[in-house]
Amino acid sequence: MKPVTLMGRERLYCAFSTRGSSLFRLGTESRQDSDVPPIPKPHDQADRMRSNVYKAEDQFSAVCNRGGLVDFFGSHIDIPIQRRFGDIDSVRGYVESVIGLMVEKYPKLTTPRVRVRKGSTRAHYEFSTNTIAIPIGDQWALRESVVLHECAHHVTWFRYKANVAPHGSEFTACMLELVGRIMGEGPALLLRAGYQELGVPVMTTGVDS
Ligand SMILES: [Zn+2]
Repeated sequence: MKPVTLMGRERLYCAFSTRGSSLFRLGTESRQDSDVPPIPKPHDQADRMRSNVYKAEDQFSAVCNRGGLVDFFGSHIDIPIQRRFGDIDSVRGYVESVIGLMVEKYPKLTTPRVRVRKGSTRAHYEFSTNTIAIPIGDQWALRESVVLHECAHHVTWFRYKANVAPHGSEFTACMLELVGRIMGEGPALLLRAGYQELGVPVMTTGVDS
């Protein structure tokens, strides 16, 4: 099969260098230029982090829609085509099998509820009821990478409750763990690189505790 090259890599590297430049300016107090960016407020940082998590995962999902060999820094990694689901029952069955695999590592991990989310095009996770809500009218949401994202919220909640940011480094570590176990190490490597390119932090210690 002919290898494909990740699209958008140059743009992502550009975003990376722009952020580095902004950090430099913030540390230069004598400058009064109007182009000095304002210091981001905490909720702005959370929004930006969530946005970058979505961007990295959207790019990852696009590659997984095609599957095949991906040129990855000169090496080829084989990416399976991600699953697509036809209805809520198939999503529910998939979530049960994902949790079944994770229980081996987290014996007290519960299975989240899965329900249809009406009137929306986005999937989400309800922390108060441990429920994954999926809009079934949207093909975008009925994909493996989207369902794994919501499963990662559930595993993060199980491990940390409300003590961590919804899309923080603990979440991304859980997402990578799920992708690695369910989709394979090649896809996990690809997603990790996507997070890295966008400056999304991933917790590197304590994941296996
Ligand atoms: Zn999320």
